[in-house]
Amino acid sequence: MTTTKRHLIIGGVAGGASTAARLRRLDEQAEIIMFERGPHVSFSNCCLPWHLSGTIADADTLVLMSPEQFWAQYRITARTGHEVIAISPAEKTITVKDVATGEATTEAYDTLTLSPGAAAIRPQIPGIDTNHVFTIRNVVDIDALQRHLVAKDAKEVVVVGAGFVGLEVAENLVHGGRKVTIIEALPQVLSPLDPELAAILHKELVDQGVDLHLGDSLVEIRNDEVELASGTVVKAEAVVMSVGVRPETALAKAAGLEIGTTGGIKVDENFRTSDPYIYAVGDAIEVTHRLTGKPSLLAMAGPAQRQARTAADHIYGRPTRNRGVIGSSVVQVFDYTAASTGLNEKQAKEAGVDYDFVYVIPGDSVGIMPDSKPLFFKLLFEKPTGRVLGAQAVGKGAADKRIDIIATLITMNGTLEDLADTELAYSPLYSTAKDVVIHAALVGQNILNGEFEQVPVTKVRELVESGAFIIDAREPDEYAAGHIRTAVNIPLSQFRDRLSEIPTDRPVYVHCRSSQRSYNQVRALGQLGVGNAVNISGSYLGICMEQWFEDQASNREPIVTEYNFA
Ligand SMILES: Cc1cc2nc3c(=O)[nH]c(=O)nc-3n(C[C@H](O)[C@H](O)[C@H](O)COP(=O)(O)OP(=O)(O)OC[C@H]3O[C@@H](n4cnc5c(N)ncnc54)[C@H](O)[C@@H]3O)c2cc1C
Repeated sequence: MTTTKRHLIIGGVAGGASTAARLRRLDEQAEIIMFERGPHVSFSNCCLPWHLSGTIADADTLVLMSPEQFWAQYRITARTGHEVIAISPAEKTITVKDVATGEATTEAYDTLTLSPGAAAIRPQIPGIDTNHVFTIRNVVDIDALQRHLVAKDAKEVVVVGAGFVGLEVAENLVHGGRKVTIIEALPQVLSPLDPELAAILHKELVDQGVDLHLGDSLVEIRNDEVELASGTVVKAEAVVMSVGVRPETALAKAAGLEIGTTGGIKVDENFRTSDPYIYAVGDAIEVTHRLTGKPSLLAMAGPAQRQARTAADHIYGRPTRNRGVIGSSVVQVFDYTAASTGLNEKQAKEAGVDYDFVYVIPGDSVGIMPDSKPLFFKLLFEKPTGRVLGAQAVGKGAADKRIDIIATLITMNGTLEDLADTELAYSPLYSTAKDVVIHAALVGQNILNGEFEQVPVTKVRELVESGAFIIDAREPDEYAAGHIRTAVNIPLSQFRDRLSEIPTDRPVYVHCRSSQRSYNQVRALGQLGVGNAVNISGSYLGICMEQWFEDQASNREPIVTEYNFA
């Protein structure tokens, strides 16, 4: 009787290859075979868009390891060009088809791990099956797109969907010399961001020459153009569909494995499916959101690799604990970095969490240093516990580092108090002595303690239109360079001598450039018993960023005399 284990894996990329490598580290004797229907294993999906700009000039370099290397270094068999077409849990076998010959064989397993990923969604609209329509999941896809662009000398490309893949593809196409139109059905790009943060990226995309259509959708693809639901027609020599992915569950379903309510393969805390010998990881599974406890889907590489390691550990009896996901991501959008983690406002509302937020725009390094830039930073926390729920950062500096701090804190169930107490590294080039995240934690504590009131930047147009009393706390020269049409300029440096100008019978809304001066004015007015002062979070910089794109797109009258983005 043999004691050698036979571990089979479906899918040879992020989750599959990581499972295989971890299994080998745990058992030098086991037979480990990965089946991959495509021609490559272990390629970098995440780097694919950079081939379009030539940053990664040779598509072959996107493949990190060959089957030969897997065998030589790890004694792992990687069978590319082999598609698993059926699983028999009762017999503990799979049926594998050689893609080139069509020949089918049966393979027995002790354990089977599914990491088949997710398929790009192709909405069934006229023209979707023509050969200038592309989706991007692997090296073959990106190579085919780039070859098409070069062969046709394509100048104009339409990207449908403005999630992180769509944005990365769009940016790299621009850097590759193409004119790009983005079409997004939602009113904003990047759904993990709240609208006021996404709006900053809308401006950046337009500034970089991208033709951005929000709140509109594709209805037909023709030979050299596409038509949108609004009736707009856009020239398109190639169309890239990046409207999301759907977990690959056909095999699992056919094998009778349980599928979760979100459509992903259901797994337990050890990544075991409803069959005790079959595990599943990566984009194909249903995950649990750590903060809401609710099932969800998350197609990200980091979680796939973590899950793979955990599954392999469990196969070898190591104690494991799947504590769920929080959903952290980062993307470059031309000169900006946009990153987020945990819950945004929409998710917090949907989950019924009692929360509040902080939106601050401090410098990402000491203001007098040459590269200091505003960092737009939003932090969500639970009431009344102060538990940190999520954060979003958009800026030209290190937004990712701030979000990674918050992701770490959320993972450890941290609160505003923990965050305010965190001792971070500081030098004027990298941050300020009171870094953005600490600053946000302190503001959050004040809000949690009910020390002052705020309104979100998204409510300012409503305030203007309803005739609210708005104080601009900046200096007169700043006011002259652009202000809210209805705002009264009562600077922080003057307000103590001008208290009589401030009404006491209704709320007064105060803003400055980035909310620091307005906050001080609001606190002082409260203590002086003058009016009911409310801080406008995000202030003038946040207001201009939030309003600009919609003003241009809808031709509505701006609420500001001049925008100010610096
Ligand atoms: C363009 C792009 C950019 C991305 N950028 C990022 C990023 O910056 N950060 C991030 O965290 N994530 C990113 N991702 C997502 C990340 O790549 C995925 O979350 C991750 O690869 C999921 O791993 P997986 O093993 O579940 O699936 P995959 O890596 O997709 O691997 C699944 C493999 O299984 C194979 N397969 C499926 N069915 C069968 C079958 N029946 N038989 C044999 N083989 C089969 C498929 O051919 C596929 O190669 C990006 C994805 C794309 C496409």
